[in-house]
Amino acid sequence: MEWDKSASMLLEKVPPFVQKTVREKIETLARERGKTLVTEVDVMAAREVFMGKPQNPTVPQRTVAKKPVNNEKLSILKKYTKYFDKEGNPVLYQVKHCRGGEVNCPFLITDSKILSDKLRNKLEELHFTEKLMNKIEGQILPHHTMKLAVSGCPNSCSMPQIKDFGVHAVEPVYVDHDSECIECMKCVETCREDAITIKDGHVSLDKEKCVHCGLCAGVCPTGSIKASEKKYRVMIGGKVGRHPRFALDLLTQADESATLKALGVCADMILSSKTERRFRTLVEQQGIEEIKKKI
Ligand code: SF4
Ligand code: SF4
Ligand code: SF4
Repeated sequence: MEWDKSASMLLEKVPPFVQKTVREKIETLARERGKTLVTEVDVMAAREVFMGKPQNPTVPQRTVAKKPVNNEKLSILKKYTKYFDKEGNPVLYQVKHCRGGEVNCPFLITDSKILSDKLRNKLEELHFTEKLMNKIEGQILPHHTMKLAVSGCPNSCSMPQIKDFGVHAVEPVYVDHDSECIECMKCVETCREDAITIKDGHVSLDKEKCVHCGLCAGVCPTGSIKASEKKYRVMIGGKVGRHPRFALDLLTQADESATLKALGVCADMILSSKTERRFRTLVEQQGIEEIKKKI
């Protein structure tokens, strides 16, 4: 397995006599998360698993708003601990992830914690909390904060469809016509969407029904159905409350870089808006097709 430069530098700091063992453990964990390249995020994730909290100061840690906190603005939010970090600084976003990676969920495509950490870091880099506090003139209310969720598969246990910015992993599949279908019907029995038809050794996938869970590729003994690269479905503008709305599809098969870019676009929409309307309203005003063009 390949390592990127920053991950390799972190490994070099491990005492030489245990480097081989540590490398193997990190690679095993990275592989379990569906990775083919080890990054510093994988090193830190392994550190958390084996040693508790991250300790290396060279890896970016979550930072907090540096500006003096205007207590008046926060008096309503202060009733809820979830809007503050351990040091009592405001954090005007929440990022949830499903527990698939922790419990070895059989449906897991990609560990949602890894992406949720990156989304959190992105908002930190953008100084989202600080800028939002500066933008809002009166009381900051819970609905002003940005809600995000990441799920490790289309089952969407962290409910990304009702968040401002929701993501779930997908594993698109395709029929490999060079591989023989032996009509074992395992794929048909596995697919909950009734998206597969087998007739005379010919395999058909219904793209309208398929949710890209990747399960059929996992059970096919001949490789007639194969999995493609793992991706993310990105949805924006979901909400509950008086007028609940499901999030709209922004990207259906995005890589990590496009997903992070999409978050930057959405954060900018919130921070540059002259009003304090719900994000869903901003999405409807701009139009989802116009927002897609920015990514
Ligand atoms: S979203 Fe998928 S991977 Fe995550 S816990 Fe639910 S079923 Fe498992
Ligand atoms: S990827 Fe999932 S939903 Fe799509 S055909 Fe395979 S099992 Fe069915
Ligand atoms: S699991 Fe594979 S071999 Fe079996 S019926 Fe489906 S496509 Fe054919």
